[in-house]
Amino acid sequence: MSGMRAFREARVDLGAIIANVDTLRAAIGTTHTMAVVKARGYGHGAVPSARAAIAGGADWLGVVEVAEALELRAAKIDVPILAWLHDPAANFDEAVSAQIDIGINSLAQLDRAAQASGTAVVHLKVDTGLGRNGVVLDECEQLFAAAHQHEKLGRVRVRGIFSHLANASDADDAAQATAFESAVALAESAGLAPELRHLASTAAALRLPATRFDLVRLGIGIYGLSPFDDQNSESLGLRPALELSAVIVSVKRVPAGSGVSYGYTYRTAAPTTLALVPLGYADGIPRQASNRAPVSINGKTYPIAGRVAMDQFVVDVGDAVVAEGDRAVLFGDPARGIPSADDWARSCDTINYEIVTRLAGRLGYRYLP
Ligand SMILES: *Cc1c(COP(=O)(O)O)cnc(C)c1O
Repeated sequence: MSGMRAFREARVDLGAIIANVDTLRAAIGTTHTMAVVKARGYGHGAVPSARAAIAGGADWLGVVEVAEALELRAAKIDVPILAWLHDPAANFDEAVSAQIDIGINSLAQLDRAAQASGTAVVHLKVDTGLGRNGVVLDECEQLFAAAHQHEKLGRVRVRGIFSHLANASDADDAAQATAFESAVALAESAGLAPELRHLASTAAALRLPATRFDLVRLGIGIYGLSPFDDQNSESLGLRPALELSAVIVSVKRVPAGSGVSYGYTYRTAAPTTLALVPLGYADGIPRQASNRAPVSINGKTYPIAGRVAMDQFVVDVGDAVVAEGDRAVLFGDPARGIPSADDWARSCDTINYEIVTRLAGRLGYRYLP
């Protein structure tokens, strides 16, 4: 799809992703920058987002699963890729042959990686306090000793050691950074020499220089969204890359007191015009957006009227002149006079991450260079 706008459209400005990576790299200044393109590139499309991030200066890609990494390899993307969450029964042969680095979360997983044909390149994950994946500090000595044994036999190469922050408070994150440093020291005394120590995602990379180490893993920021409650895209110098819109499929005049959508949670206050937008929760629009989230039509912003259904929702545009074929814009770059993913997150009691990542279903993706 080139110039034609799609019926239900996620328009992704790849130039914005390129500029965002460049801006973040300039602010952060680490030797290496990993662009995180898991979950279909936070709803933006993994392959195009990865290519744009590389054009902006990212030299690593991060994903959750090996399958996501293989999709990037199938698209002939050849920069190093790290995948960090695996089926406990995973066999890592494909990952190793596709040169995908494996994030290791347990001793058993390390042994599985060592059994793959070829040398598995791994990053050992330490749980420094998030309480999710990774090996707790008390068990690191055993993990590092085993990794060193595998390294001596040529079964494994430990390229990295990493952890993930809870973003609970600056003090909590600093405590995790200290714990991470002890884990790195422990790894070194076990005979390992991981060249990449990495801890920070977008938030800590921007605010806590002590968490930057050799590489930062940047997700939300590369898509132009802020990880912070108290700062928006603009104040970070970032441009939201995704704009969600759809063609208005029907427009009608109705009298005062008309019920709108399932359950009549909205009734018209006066004779008015209703515009029907063909996007619903099947496309990733939260049902919590009902009667709350903002939509821009012909330069004016209105709240959604009534419930968001599976495939459609309604906007009460009053006496504004709106025609079938006009476009409803849900969110994008507020510099264009439209609502932001942050506005939608507030309306839906969630975070901007979820607003963009949940997009799915029948959207047409259009990529601007
Ligand atoms: C998702 C993820 C990131 C990226 O986080 P952002 O807040 O989007 O920058 C980094 N590291 C890990 C381990 C992740 O799961």
